[in-house]
This record gives sequence, structure tokens and C-alpha cells, in this order.
Amino acid sequence: MALIHQPIDFMGQNIYNGYYIRIGADGKLEYVDRPAGFPKTAANWPVTPECLYWGTKFLYERYQMPLYITENGMSCHDQVSADGRVHDSNRIDFLDQYLSQLQRASDDGVDIRGYFLWTFLDNFEWDKGYNERFGLVYVDFATQKRIAKDSAFWYQKVMETNGGILCMNNADANKEILFMNPVFKQMIWGGNKLGSKWGYEIPGENTGECWAVSAHPNGDCTIKEGTYAGKTLSQLWTEEPQLFGNVAGDRFPLLIKIIDANDDLSIQVHPDDAYAGENENGSFGKTECWYILDAPEGATLVIGHNAKDKAELEDMIHNGRWNEFLREVPIKKGDFIQIDPGTVHAIKGGIEILETQQNSDITYRVYDYGRLQNGKPRELHIEKSIDVITVPAKSVEESVVNISTDAKNTMNPLISCSYYRVWKLDVDGSMEVSQEYPFLIMSVVEGDGLINGQLIKKGDHFILPSGFGKVELQGKMELIASTVA
Ligand code: ZN
Repeated sequence: MALIHQPIDFMGQNIYNGYYIRIGADGKLEYVDRPAGFPKTAANWPVTPECLYWGTKFLYERYQMPLYITENGMSCHDQVSADGRVHDSNRIDFLDQYLSQLQRASDDGVDIRGYFLWTFLDNFEWDKGYNERFGLVYVDFATQKRIAKDSAFWYQKVMETNGGILCMNNADANKEILFMNPVFKQMIWGGNKLGSKWGYEIPGENTGECWAVSAHPNGDCTIKEGTYAGKTLSQLWTEEPQLFGNVAGDRFPLLIKIIDANDDLSIQVHPDDAYAGENENGSFGKTECWYILDAPEGATLVIGHNAKDKAELEDMIHNGRWNEFLREVPIKKGDFIQIDPGTVHAIKGGIEILETQQNSDITYRVYDYGRLQNGKPRELHIEKSIDVITVPAKSVEESVVNISTDAKNTMNPLISCSYYRVWKLDVDGSMEVSQEYPFLIMSVVEGDGLINGQLIKKGDHFILPSGFGKVELQGKMELIASTVA
């Protein structure tokens, strides 16, 4: 005892897995049951990568000793495949996750001096004999033939790059789809289709807008699941800029909405960046575009106006010559309309649209059909409207595009302007997209299918982060995609 109780220079630990514990009803700690189907190795050991973070952190805080992980690794159901190789992808993923957690501890200041992987060759285990295979190299126990498993080549690269290829150091290779929890807005003109047709849990009748992908302070979406579950999109934009390709800017640039107009919206116009910046506390201006998801027979929208110069514009507005002023344009399902700042516009009752817009809420109301809200007319912004309305208006032909005849299983471009690029995708069977943009927003607007094997359906909105790479879409569905310009 005198000999072995000497001070030690470092501590070695074999760490394979951990338990979750919590404070029980009696104030004492208790074990938390593992969920059914929890991940486990071939030896039925739980896969809990965080143990290399919490375990080493605890030991270091308590003993202040340099640490070596003297054993860590996994037993896999390894077999020689038809191609003569051993494809042990589970082991690669295990080591990637465990080593990432170990690096996380090291990054937090834990003095990690080394890591010994168990083990090089499939071996004779003291407890299990030849029944478990822990090696990076496969051993045919009968012939002693050796085959380097896929993990051996992967581990070689880990060593060559000093961990540079680990998932946590490779944010550019982010493969996690960021699904959104939308925010709903009740409006006097809203309906209930966002509940009845889209299946959302709406706050009540008159739900006019679903802010599907938004980081706006008036409706900041949260992430539905995964690493960033519960975080708001505006938080992610600030804290994890690599997800968005490190695009410059102090706020997420776009806002995607689904609008259900049960009644006509007011006649409105938006300012550009320069005017909004000066007159609206540094806000963005608002350029927006609409994809018509549904419209009744004979539907129209207000797009543009008929005043030929500024003097006529002022006269028409001040003297209420609305029938002469407003330009009604027939539209149908599948039409696409770009609304530049300065364009007079209004959505009419019965129309459903997906709107892609700048992240801004600045709207000037020109005319509200004389309607009352709570007994009073809603505020109008006549002078600001006259300031920003473009005279004369852009022609109808330049404003409305119909793409309903376009090709299946490809990214059909709808628009590319200085704020965004928007596409329509008609998936019928399967298609492949390369996510090479800073980020790519997608909204499923019809049908259902799979994205890289994951089920998606009408009403789902998500962001594919920077470096996502190959996207496989399968099924029968329609999507609207967008990114920054
Ligand atoms: Zn608008």
C-alpha cells in the first residue's frame, strides 16, 4: 500500500458509455430508463458519445490530473461483404461522435493527453473470446487473413488531419435539415384554410398568415427538432453563421409566408431599402413575390395602377377615384408575381399564396375599401404611399409569369432579383438537387414524399444548411425553394 499510494502523474480511464441520472422524488439520485430501441453496439453496450465529454470534464474538475482515454471503441456486427471489403459504417459513426465529444471537452480546457482506440485487430476478448469484433482490421480467425475495415481508412484520415475530418470540425458538411415551427397571425381578412387544408394548429378563425420561415421580431420561428431544437431562427443566424454560409448581414434576410385571404386585403405598397432605412428606423424595404397556390375561377389581384404621372396619381388617391386607379389582373393557380417596391398591390378574397419576401414588415396602406375594425377605419399611410409608388406602373406582362407547364423533376427558376432566387419543383418520381447555395429554403406546398429518406409533406418548411450537398427528393409533391441572391 505504501508503494501504490504514491502521487500519480496522470490518470488513465477506459470509457465506453454512461448513464443518465436525475434527482428522484426523495431528493436522491435515480437512474433514468433508457428509451426503447436505444442505440447499442453488437455487445449490447449503449452508444452514448456524451460520456467522453461529461466523464472527462468531471474527472478533470475533481482531480486536476492530465487524462488519457486508455480504451474506447465498439464491437460491430462486422462481416466480409460480397465485394471482399468490411463496411463498418456504424463504427465510423461511433468514433466520429465519441471523438467529437472528447474534443469538445478538450476545447473546454480539460487536459486530454491521449486516446487509445480499442482496438487494432479483432481480438480475443477476456470475457467474450472471439464472439465480439472490436478491431479496425478484420481477422478471419480460421485462416488468420486480415482485411482493413472501412473504419481503418477513416481513422487513418483522422490521424493525418489531427481530428480535422470529425463531424464537429466540419460544419460546412452540415447534414441536418432545419425544420421550422411556423408562427400564425390572425387578420381581419384571414380564414381557416391553414387549419382545414394545411393541417396546422391555428389560433382560431381569421388566421390569415403562416410565417413559415421567419426570423422577424414579430414572429421568430423556432427549430422543430435535432441539435438546434427550440432555438429561434434569429438566434441561429447570430450564433451559427456557418449554417448559412457566413452570409453577411445582421439579420436573416428572407421571410416565407403562406397567406389565406378569406376577404380582400387592403390596397398597399412597400418602400425600398433606402426609403425604409431613412423613414422606418433602419428597417429593410420590402420586395416580395407570390406563387399562387389556389384561386377561385375568375379570380383577380390588384397589381399596379393606371395613373400615367404623379399628378394624376395624387388626384386619383386624394379624390377616391379607386375604380379608375386600381389595375385588376386576372390570375390562376400556378401564376407567379414579382412585387417590386413601389408596386400597388392587393390580394383578393379566396386566394392562397406562398410569399417569398425580404425580412421586413413595412407596409403602407393606400386604401381599405372603407372597412371598419372594432368600429374604426384602419390607419392609412397616404403621404408615404404617394412618396413611394412607382409611376407609371410596370406592365402586366412584366409582372405575372405562368410556369404551370414547366418541367418535372428539375429546379424551375421563377425569379432572380437582388434579394432572392426562387424556384418551383414538381417532383414526380425522383430528382436530385445539389445544395451549393449559402442555404436553401424549401416549402412543401402539395403532396408528400421523401428528402434523403426522411418523410416530408404539405405544410413542412425547412432550411438545408450550407454544405448540405446532395439532396434526393422522391414522391409526388410540389415545392417552392428559395435562397439569397
Ligand atoms: Zn405586400
